[in-house]
Amino acid sequence: MIKIESKYEFLTKDILRDLCHFNGSERAFTLIYSSLEQILLVELSNRATSSRSYTAYSLDFRYPKHVIYSFMTKKLNPTNVFWITLIHIMAVVATFYFSWTGLALSLFGLFVAAPIGINMGYHRLLAHKAFVTPIWMRNTLITIGTFLGAGPPLQWAAAHRKHHKYSDQDQDPHNSRLGFWHSHMMHLMYASEVGSDSEDWKKYIPDLINDPYLKFLDKYSVQIAVLEVPLLYAWGGFQFVLWGAFFRLAISLHVMWFVNSASHMWGYRSHKTTDNTRNNWWVGILAAGEGWHNNHHACANSARHGVRWWELDFTYLLILCLKWAGLATHVKGFIAPKTSGSLSSTDLSRLSTQDQTSAPKFL
Ligand SMILES: [Zn+2]
Ligand SMILES: [Zn+2]
Repeated sequence: MIKIESKYEFLTKDILRDLCHFNGSERAFTLIYSSLEQILLVELSNRATSSRSYTAYSLDFRYPKHVIYSFMTKKLNPTNVFWITLIHIMAVVATFYFSWTGLALSLFGLFVAAPIGINMGYHRLLAHKAFVTPIWMRNTLITIGTFLGAGPPLQWAAAHRKHHKYSDQDQDPHNSRLGFWHSHMMHLMYASEVGSDSEDWKKYIPDLINDPYLKFLDKYSVQIAVLEVPLLYAWGGFQFVLWGAFFRLAISLHVMWFVNSASHMWGYRSHKTTDNTRNNWWVGILAAGEGWHNNHHACANSARHGVRWWELDFTYLLILCLKWAGLATHVKGFIAPKTSGSLSSTDLSRLSTQDQTSAPKFL
């Protein structure tokens, strides 16, 4: 059985019927299907069912021209295009003004500040309510995330909840089945699918939309993030601005984006979720625990993403520190979902060897 989710579904079903009629093989079918939509099908490693199923990857990982074509033809979000381009240009400029202090500043931002503001604040607290903190502490964490340039918190939470609801389906804002670059960063270049219109917000973040402080942060997120520039300039001049703001932000953004791209493509699966999520060790380390993404999608409201002893989850350790200090309560633990179950050790060893090399490949 071949599983297809595509706007050309009606067409491909007809082709499949014809191919079956003429004893067409799955290989022939996938070649024709690929040529129709510039995608290729690879076998899903999730053997939740005994039937063979396939998932579609855009060719953009192997064919950058497909990314350029999408960029040229889709309706763009000019604000995001401007900021993402500027951040990358300035990050490159930073490398011509290297300083060890600047590098230390960037690494501090990546490994300490981002886990506090973005992982703990935006993700586990705001979007998932994985623990409870006093309101001043919640506002502090979210403000750190906004200051670090993570973007408008309400929009972030709405898009993220939508991602969990429709993970790797058409409605997913960064559907990884549309390719590495789409899920990594290109989706941000296009007109937002989760706008700040009241319908989207009512649907995904009804519990947050009436919070005045969050609305304030959301409205002035760019101005708050830009505050970093004069502060760093006053501290260490232009070099600190380049490294502490732009270079730091560029690497932080890519690490955050790898959670949406790499952790939906490469790594092992411990749980039979309906999406393509993976536990990816290097994203796990770089993103302070956010890379154990198959665990996270299996139990989204858990404060803990790293479950096995080697799945280091620095963000969870920070939450435990808050709990120890009496600043976090109701810390939700990881409960393996009953409906999907976890994979047996045999399944796991088979999948982990198979999936480490499961980058899109030609049939
Ligand atoms: Zn995800
Ligand atoms: Zn999440």
